[in-house]
Amino acid sequence: MEILSNLIGGAFVPAASSELLDDLNPATGEGIARIPRSRKEDVDAAVNAARAALPAWRKTPAAERAALLDAIAARLEAEAEGLAALESQDTGKPLALARSMDIARAVLNFRFFAGALRHDETGCHAMDGALNYTVRAPLGVVALVTPWNLPIYLLSWKVAPALAMGNTLVAKPSELTPLTASALARIVTEAGLPPGVFNLVHGLGAEAGDALVSHDGISAVSFTGGTATGARVAAAAAPRFRKLSLELGGKNATLVFADCDLDAAVEGAVRAGFLNQGQVCLCGSRVLVERSIYDRFLEAFVARVSRMKVGPPSEPTTELGALVSLAHRDKVEGYLALAREEGGMVLCGGTRPVLPAPYDAGAFLTPAVVGGLSPSCRTATEEIFGPVVTVHPFDTEEDALAIANGVRYGLAASVWTRDLSRAHRVAAALETGMVWVNTWLLRDLRVPFGGVKDSGVGREGGRHSLEFFSEARNVCVKL
Ligand code: NDP
Repeated sequence: MEILSNLIGGAFVPAASSELLDDLNPATGEGIARIPRSRKEDVDAAVNAARAALPAWRKTPAAERAALLDAIAARLEAEAEGLAALESQDTGKPLALARSMDIARAVLNFRFFAGALRHDETGCHAMDGALNYTVRAPLGVVALVTPWNLPIYLLSWKVAPALAMGNTLVAKPSELTPLTASALARIVTEAGLPPGVFNLVHGLGAEAGDALVSHDGISAVSFTGGTATGARVAAAAAPRFRKLSLELGGKNATLVFADCDLDAAVEGAVRAGFLNQGQVCLCGSRVLVERSIYDRFLEAFVARVSRMKVGPPSEPTTELGALVSLAHRDKVEGYLALAREEGGMVLCGGTRPVLPAPYDAGAFLTPAVVGGLSPSCRTATEEIFGPVVTVHPFDTEEDALAIANGVRYGLAASVWTRDLSRAHRVAAALETGMVWVNTWLLRDLRVPFGGVKDSGVGREGGRHSLEFFSEARNVCVKL
């Protein structure tokens, strides 16, 4: 079995303690790799290496940094098939999805930020008798902490802009899904990134992750993960006055109005509910449907969800693979039990499918639709982060908005209507960072990405990422 290493100062090294953690394939339960169980001394070494590499990297011309990002993108693209296989094995997601979404997006992230850096502009403000101009300096060493649901997709979304702006970095991926982060460490090295610019420390969140985000040698933390962990990260960063970006959980609503294109809305709600086994922060896990079409919508929705194929990730027809771990499946099943206690009816799914060995030991669960719940109950307001969607009827636009906004989260929503005025009105009244109208997860990498309320602080994407990973300085020159 492969033993992965940390990347510190250009060297692939084990944890100082030599301790290892098991990495399992959640579709089969088999061990696929062992990773270093890093702790504070490994993080210290990584931060020191990043500090040592900083002076040269921040002086590297932008054109050279952009060329390196493009070189990384080209290598990722050349290895796309192998990387997709690693991501699928590590997460349990369908191989076809890893190929079309995760790896394709990782390539694009590097290419996009290479282009964004080349086209970056800063401001100039003329006054009577003086001229102000803005320059952007790198922050220093940045800490990047990422979750297991979209491992290389979300890591590269932070690495590319951090490097573009001249920072050096220490990354800590989820210990559940370390494979593609390790592949990326090899690829950036082969692409010619100088030693110490990109450092990777594997390990547990409570050990390596905590040591990293509370390290005095870092200048910023960019974190994507759960809201409870985000609060711990914020508590570590706040007394040190570190720049902080938090992309956290969601309990996103899909609002279906009677004037929608019903077939498109059903298809959109299915995709929003169950993509990646429902393990996307943006997933529409609450479907709110105008009462006059509720029965028709529900019939079509449940019929479509019941037909979704759950199976081995490598089979091309598989729509849902395994959840990320058996423990996570237990958590999701716990919510289905809670839904029943709260008076809900599981209208389809929520069962363990019968699959041949070795998949009989995997963390599979059929996609579930739950009706009959109050929109304010725990099942309908807490993030489940799995293939479970609750459906709720509403009577008026105001009711729909009250339900949609009645949760602690505020990440995203999708609105299905053919009434243009309604679309704009509802989009304006939703308490979320992102709204899609008649679509879901249609992404332009330039737009602001992030949430409000307990879904996070700050925005990623395009110039928002470039601004986060740099410090703006104004220079005022008296003429
Ligand atoms: P976690 O919050 O459990 O973990 C996220 C990362 O933080 C992991 O690398 C984890 O390491 C690490 N970590 C855990 N504890 C600490 C700590 N005390 N200090 C520093 N780092 C720590 O999230 P999950 O991995 O379970 O991911 C699922 C969550 O991520 C969901 O809530 C989802 O909504 C959210 N998410 C948000 C997105 C957004 O853009 N808003 C996008 C994708 C996911 P380890 O796993 O090794 O413990």
